[in-house]
Amino acid sequence: MLTEILTDQQLIKLYTTPGYLVAVDYPKKEVKLHTVDCMLADPISSVGVKPSKARENKTGEFWYSESRDEANSKAEEIAKNKEGYTYTICPICNR
Ligand SMILES: [Zn+2]
Repeated sequence: MLTEILTDQQLIKLYTTPGYLVAVDYPKKEVKLHTVDCMLADPISSVGVKPSKARENKTGEFWYSESRDEANSKAEEIAKNKEGYTYTICPICNR
C-alpha cells in the first residue's frame, strides 16, 4: 500500500521496515527512488530528506511503499505528470 509521508517522525519509524521511498524535490524537479534505509532517505542524517520541512515550505513530497514495483510506478507517474521532472533511482541504495 502506498502511504504519503508527511513528517520526519513517520519516516524515522519506517527505517527498520523493508520498503521504498519516493522523494520528490520540487525546486530540483527531481523524483528519486530510495530504500528506506538509505542515508539519503534518513531525516536524522544531515544529507537525508526532511519531509516535515519540505511539507512546511512546499518544496517536496514523499511516498512510501513496501513494494518496489508500486513505489516505482508512483515515481514514474509523478515524473510524467509534472513538467520537466526527471526520475532517477538512487545510485547509493539501488539494489
Ligand atoms: Zn538512496
